[in-house]
Amino acid sequence: MYIAGKCHCGNIGFRLDWPGDAAEIAARACDCSFCTKHGGVWTSNPQAKLIVTIDDAQLVSRYAFGTQTATFHVCARCGAVPLVTSEIDGGVYAVVNVNTFEKLDPARLRKAAVTFEGEDPASRLARRKRNWIADVRFARAGPE
Ligand SMILES: [Zn+2]
Repeated sequence: MYIAGKCHCGNIGFRLDWPGDAAEIAARACDCSFCTKHGGVWTSNPQAKLIVTIDDAQLVSRYAFGTQTATFHVCARCGAVPLVTSEIDGGVYAVVNVNTFEKLDPARLRKAAVTFEGEDPASRLARRKRNWIADVRFARAGPE
């Protein structure tokens, strides 16, 4: 099934092609300092495909901290954070913020708190490679 999402103003949008009917979607409320401040709740599926469309790339702020291995794509216009990417071994992996989903029945979300505190960088990248969306494409929105 397709799940659409976007930031509040629509500058950063995405279409997630989720395998199967997605009766249940695991949503992880990360307890890192950034996600705590932003209320980020993330999901991914290693078999999903993600297409990200950006209207105005100038209005996307890329933010990294700590181990600098994850990039938060923050809309500079409205402040929402629809996705995080991580470059691992030449590939781009991603998770998306369930709070930026459009028209998805919230009853499908199985929210749980997670902590990755104390995880060493190598295990962190290996975990992302296993669990994050591995097919990530960025497209320019609109006909221009
Ligand atoms: Zn926005």
